[in-house]
Amino acid sequence: MRKNDIFEIEITGMTDDGRGVGRLNGMAVFVPYVVVGETVRVLLIKITKTYAVGKLIEVLRPSPHRVKSECSAFYKCGGCALMHMSYEKELEFKRSKVKDCIERIGGFKNFEPCDIVPSPKSSRYRNKSQFPVTPEGIGMFAAHSHRLVESDDCLIAGENCRAVIKAVKYWMKSRGISAYDERSGEGLVRHVCVRQADSGTLVTIVTSKTALPEADALVDELKNACPDLSGVVQNINPKNTNVILGSENRIIYGSPYLIDNIGHVKFRISPMSFYQVNRAQTERLYSIAEEFAELKGHETLLDMYCGIGTIGQFMARGAKKIIGVEYTPQAASDARENAELNHVKNAEYYCGKAEYVISDIIKKGERPDIAVLDPPRKGCDIKLLNALSEIPTLKKIVYISCKPSTLARDMKILNDLGFKPKKATPVDMFPRTPHVETVVLMSRVKG
Ligand code: SAH
Repeated sequence: MRKNDIFEIEITGMTDDGRGVGRLNGMAVFVPYVVVGETVRVLLIKITKTYAVGKLIEVLRPSPHRVKSECSAFYKCGGCALMHMSYEKELEFKRSKVKDCIERIGGFKNFEPCDIVPSPKSSRYRNKSQFPVTPEGIGMFAAHSHRLVESDDCLIAGENCRAVIKAVKYWMKSRGISAYDERSGEGLVRHVCVRQADSGTLVTIVTSKTALPEADALVDELKNACPDLSGVVQNINPKNTNVILGSENRIIYGSPYLIDNIGHVKFRISPMSFYQVNRAQTERLYSIAEEFAELKGHETLLDMYCGIGTIGQFMARGAKKIIGVEYTPQAASDARENAELNHVKNAEYYCGKAEYVISDIIKKGERPDIAVLDPPRKGCDIKLLNALSEIPTLKKIVYISCKPSTLARDMKILNDLGFKPKKATPVDMFPRTPHVETVVLMSRVKG
């Protein structure tokens, strides 16, 4: 078995990142863009001691779940991994990934997650999209690389992204504005970010330098392209880094804030604050968390990793007190503003790392009954989980996770600390990508 050899293999499983797995002489071969059950011809492009990577050349026996992708950038762009399979099959993959992580990493044998909640929209569902700009054009990056795949559209991005990309392209070309080149560090425009909410569309132009020539012309083009344009922000990122946004924002037009409604609550969102990307599905996600919390009205609820205060304020009507903790100062200040906007009088916010702030909260005499945890992909710091287990009044944890493997790791830790998993519901927040959100309820074992 050597690199550049061609083999026929049967796909028998899938990896967490949505690639198919087959076997050659007992060795695992990972192949993108295939469906379980298919027989495919692959070119071996990488061989290591323990696994190989194959490139799909031909599908010899297609799965009945194979569909034709309508995206012209699919197979090249690194954004979506699953556009070649039916949505039904995608949901099945995601639920089994959650079950598998909870069993294998969490150590909970025969744990059955509830049915996965499908997204109301499987295309054009994102309310936030970021497009890299390079001397080669505007588009998306290929998987695990900074090679640009030029494209005028993205099928999971919001409806108006196409018009915004076109407008920025025209502005750059007609006004002689340069694109940033990572290799040389020369050039101006690095990214175009589009964020949409009920109050309108915010476009952020990320530049390498402070000066932005022809800004008025840019605003005119964007106004024409995007009838609900509510703001244009310039974000300055002079660093040679993979991080998209720099720390400085300048308002070019309108307002830098967006306002969005989720069910009975509304939120002000700052340009740098986290906000769920699939709005229609967010309401379902929060409703499941609320259902798992089963608030009676007398509880103090910890909203850890609260962002702009969304989950706690969504649930505030059922609790006595909400205590939110958020690391990003701007998001924490949005959370305070949002509490006023929603007339939520029983919420208090701390800015800092959840794993450190928790002890201040307890020292102040708070006695939380329930904790909602919604950490980033890397999951919770073990210090936080230990601290939560030491709060005698804490009976329930509702854990919302965007990464099943770190969720399962933390479930195992919490289990050892005396909390048992009661139920888990996978929620498809990110159709066409391999990512899946999960809400888990863990309750303290009595005695
Ligand atoms: N619950 C919110 C935000 C979830 S995203 C919502 O549904 O909208 C995770 C949030 O955790 C981000 O806002 C991020 O800034 C914040 N964060 C990351 N690490 C943190 C830490 N150690 N302590 C507190 N917040 C943290």
